[in-house]
Amino acid sequence: MVLAELGRRITCAIRKMNNVTIIDEKSLNECLNEITRALLQSDVSFPLVKNMQTNIKNIVNLQDLAAGHNKRKIIEQAIFSELCQMLDPGKSVFTPKKTKPSVVMFVGLQGAGKTTTCTKYAYHHQKKGFKPALVCADTFRAGAFDQLKQNATKAKIPFYGSYTESDPVKIAVEGVDRFKKENCDLIIVDTSGRHKQEASLFEEMRQVAEATKPDLVIFVMDSSIGQAAFDQAQAFKQSVAVGAVIITKMDGHAKGGGALSAVAATKSPVIFIGTGEHMDEFDVFEAKTFVSRLLGKGDLSGLVDKLQAVVPKEQQTKLVEKLSQGGFTLRIMYDQFQSMSNLPLKELYSMLPGISADLMPKGHEQESRAKIKRYMTIMDSMTNEELDSSNPKVFSESRMMRIARGSGRVVSEVMEMLKEYKKLATTFGKVKGQNMSKALPPQML
Ligand code: GDP
Repeated sequence: MVLAELGRRITCAIRKMNNVTIIDEKSLNECLNEITRALLQSDVSFPLVKNMQTNIKNIVNLQDLAAGHNKRKIIEQAIFSELCQMLDPGKSVFTPKKTKPSVVMFVGLQGAGKTTTCTKYAYHHQKKGFKPALVCADTFRAGAFDQLKQNATKAKIPFYGSYTESDPVKIAVEGVDRFKKENCDLIIVDTSGRHKQEASLFEEMRQVAEATKPDLVIFVMDSSIGQAAFDQAQAFKQSVAVGAVIITKMDGHAKGGGALSAVAATKSPVIFIGTGEHMDEFDVFEAKTFVSRLLGKGDLSGLVDKLQAVVPKEQQTKLVEKLSQGGFTLRIMYDQFQSMSNLPLKELYSMLPGISADLMPKGHEQESRAKIKRYMTIMDSMTNEELDSSNPKVFSESRMMRIARGSGRVVSEVMEMLKEYKKLATTFGKVKGQNMSKALPPQML
């Protein structure tokens, strides 16, 4: 995740504050200043960051907190909820229903990824049983219709557009009418962009919106836009009733903080993020999950979603059963490592609570893979009893030496693996009770 560096810095700032003996004004300020610096350097706009700092200080009024209060926890919670709030303005977003045709209009600057995202959005809903259709009302960019046509054909989604008609409003209206007649339940209108914001673009958008009366206008923004994000998003919001935001190219090297600014400017939530050029490189966005991942708290629901894609259903059910029976055993960890070998590690470890920072240092994917392989080799030399026990006391010094010998590794590596396991077991234990039922999709329960 591109925002990993921001997450690391915020986590470090919190950890540093947690290490001081007494939390006072000075240590709180130091922590908040570090978070502020990290957010600013990640391209979140200054007023937004300032606002967040003030809010946290209001929530955490150190003088009012009696000595017995757990200040650290209150501060951490305040930081978490403020970050969530920055990403989730608390406004509900229109969601298409299969019972009534909906029109969704996409707006954004040229190159933001609008056309690509339209198809991703259509494809996502098609997989959920919708009957989507795409209308290309982008008459400004030569080749826009061809691109949409190509994407739509690949995904077997009906499309409408014209090589000769230059009036986007006419095309949009014709397309929407036609697909309504054909009983499509999700009609997506791709509009023109421009290289920069200009009056003609906004006028055209307004006209298309007026003529097609969209149920939802989605503003598509490139994550690498940086500090300009706030102004750009606001300019769009002032012209059309933006109701949701999609941030693209989250797979690149952008700092990504612009996403937070776009939300503030449009007062609309981010609903999806684009993570690549391909049709399925598109993730549902949820503020709490995102912030949890950002702060290295892990995201079991995301993990389960990914597991669903690669692990056979029976195995998923077994895993859930085992987890809900209580112990996170070494065998479960082993099975997890095995199932996950198909997933990109970077993505995977951002979802595992507590494990991300240590197992997946930035730019060391290969090293981390090797580490996991090593852990598995070590586990291969364990007995069934050891693998199935969730009590690490079972490993005496002589057993560890035996395992090290059997796996051709050294004792310190066995100890390191067990330490990692204990960390995971603790975090899984913590989330198990509270989150398991929410985290797992119904078919897995
Ligand atoms: P439009 O002008 O706004 O319609 O933008 P396009 O859909 O043509 O996208 C511009 C470029 O960005 C294309 O090369 C896309 O393949 C690429 N693109 C779009 N979304 C993503 C994404 O999430 N990740 C990456 N890496 N590239 C993307």
